[in-house]
Amino acid sequence: MDGQLVPWENATVHVMTHSLHYGSAIFEGIRCYDSNEGTMIFRLDAHIKRFYNSARIYRMSVPFAPDEVVSAIKRTIRENNIKECYIRPIAFYGWDEVGVNPQGNRVHLAIALWPWLPYLGEEGLKVGVRCKISTWARIDPRSMPMMAKAAANYANSILARLEAQSEGFHEAILLNGSGMVTEGTGENIFLVSDGRLKTPPLSAGILPGITRESIIDLGQKMGLKVEEINLSRSELLLADELFFSGTAAEVTPIREVDNQKIGNGVRGPITQKIQSRFFEIVRGKDPDFSAWLEPV
Ligand code: PMP
Repeated sequence: MDGQLVPWENATVHVMTHSLHYGSAIFEGIRCYDSNEGTMIFRLDAHIKRFYNSARIYRMSVPFAPDEVVSAIKRTIRENNIKECYIRPIAFYGWDEVGVNPQGNRVHLAIALWPWLPYLGEEGLKVGVRCKISTWARIDPRSMPMMAKAAANYANSILARLEAQSEGFHEAILLNGSGMVTEGTGENIFLVSDGRLKTPPLSAGILPGITRESIIDLGQKMGLKVEEINLSRSELLLADELFFSGTAAEVTPIREVDNQKIGNGVRGPITQKIQSRFFEIVRGKDPDFSAWLEPV
């Protein structure tokens, strides 16, 4: 925290923290996995780049250089002696001045990590999750920059997730103001139709997911035709297969949308192939993708 290793219980902030009141924080979610060559961080460079891009969009100056954040992440993993974990760097405004303009506040940087099991459940990875199309529209990119991974974006995600879970679904899928598919509350979405892989374009108003980008690349290398294209709600219902991608959710099949089965209502064969390639890649078992892994 701010350059020091701090015991978990002492990593605290003041109640007047600007980012607590106004959502003015930007953050990242990264995972590291155990491999034969030791712990490897998946696509660290891409996550660091997105972290600084998020700060840039919000005119926030992170008080550390990217290489300092990289070494702090590695040091935190090493000092905790953790083999596999989720890594959460966060930059936020402190408690110097109250008011909407954050600039009178010091920018703080913290890196937290903890072991995090598959976000949508171990069972979800195998049999798929049940989703609901949210009644909340995804934030319009004219209102908020959806390419930034900002704390504030998650107010919209929280509403959608609470609604979905209160109705017995695992996760929500959000449409944008034009009724086109965007993403889950913390995942990007992919569709398989006639052997093609399709995912909404960044212009739909989505987070440029690093898992999404990796799957686009992997899909092409697997010989699939991959399209970044706007998808309607009906195309989701008619898909052969659907799955989520994300650092926390990894590759999670979607078996139902609004109580309607997708395909046969089980994890589809292409999803399964992509999922198993993904887990091989992150655990260092695929030399073709070793450039995506950063040793700790
Ligand atoms: N969309 C949202 C809203 C997210 O929170 C996340 C998780 N960071 C993603 C997509 C997936 O992004 P990534 O693959 O970089 O984790």
